[in-house]
Amino acid sequence: FSTIMRIDKLTLSFQQASGSVTALRNVSLQLKKGEILGLVGESGSGKSLTALSLMKLLPANARFDQGDIELEGISLKHMSESGMRSIRGNTVSMIFQEPMTALNPLIPIGSQIEELFILHKKIGKKERRRKVIDLLISVGISEPEARFRQYPFELSGGMRQRVMIAMALACSPKMIIADEPTTALDVTIQAQILDLLKDIKRDYDTSILLITHDMGVIADAADRVAVMYAGQLMELAAVDDLLESPRHPYTVGLLNSIPNITGDEQAELNTIPGIVPDLKNLPSGCPFHPRCTYATDRCREHNPELAADERGHYVACWHPVEGEIR
Ligand code: SF4
Ligand code: MG
Repeated sequence: FSTIMRIDKLTLSFQQASGSVTALRNVSLQLKKGEILGLVGESGSGKSLTALSLMKLLPANARFDQGDIELEGISLKHMSESGMRSIRGNTVSMIFQEPMTALNPLIPIGSQIEELFILHKKIGKKERRRKVIDLLISVGISEPEARFRQYPFELSGGMRQRVMIAMALACSPKMIIADEPTTALDVTIQAQILDLLKDIKRDYDTSILLITHDMGVIADAADRVAVMYAGQLMELAAVDDLLESPRHPYTVGLLNSIPNITGDEQAELNTIPGIVPDLKNLPSGCPFHPRCTYATDRCREHNPELAADERGHYVACWHPVEGEIR
């Protein structure tokens, strides 16, 4: 499969006492083999929800209204929970922002990794141990024998994230979802973890969905980028194309709010004025219009669909920004 994951026109809503709230609207996204696709947006834009949809780890009141998700050509729409259990970890695994909450504090990290082999693979103890050591080495953990016996609290935040990545790799998944994997780490460690993800992509041909609110992370690690706002995709393009000539006013705002990416350390942190809209109370037309300096009556009345320009750069906007912005 050259396309590992395909989300096709997915609309998802939450059923609440007060009515139905649409949280993802008409989202279409593909993850190709061996690429890092960045999914970027402010918190509450639907990034994590998109990831949880892929794992079918949604709250009981969530409903797929329309569309489908396919992993390696297999539809997840009617997939049973036992089917999903075998997909999770085997085909797709997930890395979260805070490894401490995902690790058991009472069990040495080596044993926690080993547990995955006991669950998913029928191999003897000696081979299991060897595989764990190999995994620790492959995620850049030195002195793996000593580390094997250490507890999570004995490791630094960066080391713990490496352990989580080792666990995600244990069953050789086709795809890894990394949800804000470096947000809790300081900048130096953040760069090292992103380097590790890039190495994994290259060495194992693994596809990675990298979820972040940080355009700096996108610029460092992503091959393609999807920009999300209010549960909708606003822009989708190759990373260089998006960084050099963003077309959606929201993307321009996100880029301008990151001083280190423009190389101007003294730049004021420009945040986009206004707040992310409440999904229960979305603005009419384009959901970004109350915050957009280009908004016209057309924007206030009609919601633009994501469409490709002649270079294959997708944008959902009636008045896309033209030319290079920097
Ligand atoms: Fe702004 Fe209109 Fe484009 Fe929405 S459609 S981002 S309001 S210009
Ligand atoms: Mg999130």
